[in-house]
Amino acid sequence: MTTYPHLLAPLDLGHVRLRNRVLMGSMHTGLEETGDWGRVAAFYAARAAGGAGLIVTGGMAPNREGGVFPGAAGLFSDTDIANHRRVTDAVHDAGGLIAMQILHAGRYAYGKECVAPSAIKSPISPFVPRELDAEGIEKQITDIVTAAVRAREAGYDGVEIMGSEGYFLNQFLVRHTNRRDDDWGGSYENRMRLPVEVVRRVREAVGPEFILIYRISLIDLVPDGSSWEEVVQLARAIEAAGASLLNTGIGWHEARVPTIATSVPRAAFTWLTARLRPEVGIPVITSNRINTPEVGERVLAAGQADMVSMARPFLADANFVAKAAAGRAEEIAPCIACNQACLDHTFSGKLTSCLVNPRACHETELVYTPSEAPKRVAVVGAGPAGMMTALVAAERGHQVVLFDRAERVGGQLHLAASVPGKEEFKGLIAWFGTMLERSTVELRLGAEARPEDLAGFEQVVIATGVAPRDPGIAGQERALSYLDVLQGAPVGRRVAVIGAGGIGFDVSEYLVHSGTSPTEDLALWRREWGVGDPAEAAGGLAAPAPEAPAREVWLLQRKAEKPGRGLGKTTGWIHRAALAAKGVKMMGGVSYKAITPEGLLVERDGAEQVLPVDDVVLCAGQVSERSLADALIAMGITPHVIGGADVAAELDAKRAIDQGARLAAAL
Ligand code: NAP
Ligand code: SF4
Repeated sequence: MTTYPHLLAPLDLGHVRLRNRVLMGSMHTGLEETGDWGRVAAFYAARAAGGAGLIVTGGMAPNREGGVFPGAAGLFSDTDIANHRRVTDAVHDAGGLIAMQILHAGRYAYGKECVAPSAIKSPISPFVPRELDAEGIEKQITDIVTAAVRAREAGYDGVEIMGSEGYFLNQFLVRHTNRRDDDWGGSYENRMRLPVEVVRRVREAVGPEFILIYRISLIDLVPDGSSWEEVVQLARAIEAAGASLLNTGIGWHEARVPTIATSVPRAAFTWLTARLRPEVGIPVITSNRINTPEVGERVLAAGQADMVSMARPFLADANFVAKAAAGRAEEIAPCIACNQACLDHTFSGKLTSCLVNPRACHETELVYTPSEAPKRVAVVGAGPAGMMTALVAAERGHQVVLFDRAERVGGQLHLAASVPGKEEFKGLIAWFGTMLERSTVELRLGAEARPEDLAGFEQVVIATGVAPRDPGIAGQERALSYLDVLQGAPVGRRVAVIGAGGIGFDVSEYLVHSGTSPTEDLALWRREWGVGDPAEAAGGLAAPAPEAPAREVWLLQRKAEKPGRGLGKTTGWIHRAALAAKGVKMMGGVSYKAITPEGLLVERDGAEQVLPVDDVVLCAGQVSERSLADALIAMGITPHVIGGADVAAELDAKRAIDQGARLAAAL
C-alpha cells in the first residue's frame, strides 16, 4: 500500500489512461527558442521518466501576433513539426504522455502586432493592442485550431488551451478588457463565445481520441473580473464543447495579489477547484503552491480535485513522482517557490533553471558522470554552496569530508527560514540534511577546520560564506546585526533598518510580524492581500485588511532610488507591497551620521533628523569570509573558493548552489 493512494491512482480518460494524478503544468523555459531540440527533448523526457502522469509543454504561439514575445516558439512549419516530434518521441520512449499548450497572449503579447477584443492596454505591457474585427477573430480561431491539428501531427497526446491568467481568451470573458458590442461582447453569452467556439472547433478538428485540456480562470483577481456564476457557466459550456479536462488558472498576470510566490500558503486556491468539481462531469485539475506529495495527496483525498498540477516542482526534481512512489519522498528536492532561477530568468530573457537543481533545463550540459579517478575532497562550509559541492562530488564517487564550525548544516539558509513568508527554506534545509545523511559524505560539524586539517586532501573547496560588512557608523556598537535579530535577539517597538537589500527587506518583514505567519494561515493571508470570493465580488477581490504591524519600521538606504529595486524581478513588488501594507517607511538618499541613545541621526535632502528608534539593525551587505582560503594559499595549497567566500556581492543561494554543482561536476 502506497503512502499516496490518491495521487498515484490512474485516471481513465476513455481513450487513454493517465498513470497517476500528477500533471506537470506548463512552464515557459526558453529551451525551444534555443533551437536545440535535443535539449528540449532531454528536458521533457527526464520528467516523463520521473513519473509525471501527463506533461504540458510551455505555451506555443498559434500565430505571430499571439506570441508572448516576438519570435516565441510555435508550430508554424513542417520543420517545427519535425522538431516537436523529437520531443514527443523522447517522452513516449520514456513512458510518458505529453500535451502541447496553445497560448495566445492577446494584449499580453510583447509586440506592436498584438491583438485583443478591445484596444485597451494592459498595465504590464507598453503596447496598445489592435481591436480585432469579426474576420480577425475568425483568423485567430483558425490559427488555434491549426496549431492543435499540427500538435497531433507532431505526436502530442493532446493540447491544453490556455484560457486563464488574463491571456487572449480570458480577455474576451470580462468587461475589464472586452468592451465590444457585437456577437463577441456585451452579454456573458457573447463574451464567452470565443473560448467555447475555440474548444468546439478544436475538438471537431482533432477527433475524440485526443486529450483537450482547457485552462479556466477560477478567480481573476482583477477589477470587473468573472463572477463565480460566470465561471460555472463557462465550465459547463466548455465541457459540452468537448474538453476532456479542466485545469485551474488563478489570477491574471496583472493582478496585484501574489498567486505562486513562496509567501502564498500551500494549496491556497484548491477551495475554488473543490467548488467547481461538482458542477461539471469532467475531471478538474487544481494548481498553485502544491509542492510536496503530501499536499497533493491531501487535496485529492479531500475530494477537492481529480488531479493536481505542479509545474516548478518538476524543475526542482524531475523524479518527483518516482521518488514519491518508491517511498523516498524526503529525497524530492523541494521547489521553494522563490522564482529566482525560473520566472525571474524568463522575464529577464534568460534560460530557465532552478535554484535547487542547476541541472534543470541544462540536462545535456551539466552532467554528473562517475569520476574516473576518485579523490579525497575536503569541503569547508556547510551552507548551500558547500552542501551542493559535497553531494555532487560524493555522487560522482569522490571521498568527501564536509566541515562546518556550526553544529548543524544549512548555513545562512537558516536565516532565510526564520523570516515569515520564507518557511519553504525549512524544507530545503531538511532535504540537504537527508541527502547528506544518505550519501557517503563524512560530516565534521561543530569544529573549526584548520589549515593543517586540510593538508592531506587532494582537493580543497572553501565555501566559508560571508561576514556582515562593517558600515563604520558612529555609535554602531549600540546597533544589532541582522544575524542577532534573525536568531531571536529582543528588538524594541521602533526600529531603523540600515540597508534595503534582500536582507534588509527580510529583516523588516520579520520585524513587522508577530504570531502566526500569514503563509501558514490561509484565512489570515487572504485578509492581508484582499483575496475574497468570486461568488461575492466579481474577480474575487476584497479590501485588504492587514493585521497591525508588530513594530514601527524605517527601512533605509543611501542610494537615492526607490528601495527594493534590486529584488527579484517577479517577486520584488510583493516584498515592497507587503512592507508598505505594514506602514514601513522606505527611504532612499539617506546618509547615516550617528547612532545615539535618542535614535538614529540621519541626513536627507540636506537636512538632519533623528529617527526616534529603540533599535538600529545593520543589514549593510556582506564581505567574503576568506581567512581560511588565504591561510591555505600561504601554505602553498590552492583551494577552490566558491559561493560568498568567492564573491559576496549579489550573493544568493542560486549562485552558490549553481557554482557548487558545477565545480563538483568537474572535480
Ligand atoms: P545587498 O543586497 O548587497 O544590500 C546591501 C544593502 O546595504 C544595500 O541596501 C546597500 O544600499 C547597503 N549598504 C551597502 N554598503 C553600505 C555601507 N557601507 N553602509 C551602509 N549601508 C550600506 O546585500 P544583502 O541585503 O546583505 O543581501 C545579500 C544577498 O542575499 C542579496 O544580494 C540577495 O541576492 C540575497 N538575498 C536575496 C533575497 C531575496 O529576496 N531574493 C533575500 C535575502 C537575501 P546603499 O549602498 O544604497 O546604502
Ligand atoms: Fe522552484 Fe525556485 Fe526552482 Fe523556480 S527556482 S523551480 S521557484 S525552487
